[in-house]
Amino acid sequence: MKTITLQHSLIHSGNLILVNAKYPFQGSIQKDTLSPVSKTSPAVFMNSSAVKLLSSLMDKLHGWEQITAVSGWRCMQEQKEIYAASLKENGKKYTEQFVALPGHSEHETGLAIDLALKQEDIDFICPHFPYTGICQVFRQNAAAYGFIQRYPKSKEAVTGIGHEPWHFRYVGIPHADIITERDLTLEEYIAFLRQYPYGKKYCLHKNPNMCISVSYLEASKTSDTQIQIDDSLPYTISGNNVDGFIITQWRKERGNG
Ligand SMILES: [Zn+2]
Repeated sequence: MKTITLQHSLIHSGNLILVNAKYPFQGSIQKDTLSPVSKTSPAVFMNSSAVKLLSSLMDKLHGWEQITAVSGWRCMQEQKEIYAASLKENGKKYTEQFVALPGHSEHETGLAIDLALKQEDIDFICPHFPYTGICQVFRQNAAAYGFIQRYPKSKEAVTGIGHEPWHFRYVGIPHADIITERDLTLEEYIAFLRQYPYGKKYCLHKNPNMCISVSYLEASKTSDTQIQIDDSLPYTISGNNVDGFIITQWRKERGNG
């Protein structure tokens, strides 16, 4: 066991940060943590860990032959410009439905990507990414590579954003699997994990190769947060961008027999 000290500001960084109208993105992006998503879309950047998994999935599906990346990381200024241009072009109602407020867009985190089926005219705000063909195959495989469809249909009241078949968010493994299996949004997942306080209970995710536990730790409001962790096992710690941390521990690899 070892003791780790988590500075309060760390609740605003990591793969599981919840960014929406209520919780702005408060982190900062170092350009060297971003990579182009593919050779065919060299101007679209994303968090480098997310790009690695996206590339594995696309390689497996030969996805980039039919799918293109429309928009990845945006700085706040770019989000401002997109918001203003959409207001002008599409009006208030449409813009509020499909464009996050500057400072509140997942695209500013580097963890989100908008994808489109390759075709002649691609709508930048609402690209075509249907529930058929290669797009649907991508969608069905996304969770195993750490991605979720972030704004599902019928969850508009929870996410505050309209149904977006094209917008995918990297949250990492095994979180994307848990979220998808339980039909949750990221808002609901962050709330769901509160029933698993670190050190007392955990949400156990099993797949044929691994057993992974996930739990929640509320950050100290007055000082840095200290946690005891078993460092003989692989683990990750992410902020939730609300009030605490999500701790993920790879408990054991199951044997082949
Ligand atoms: Zn998007």
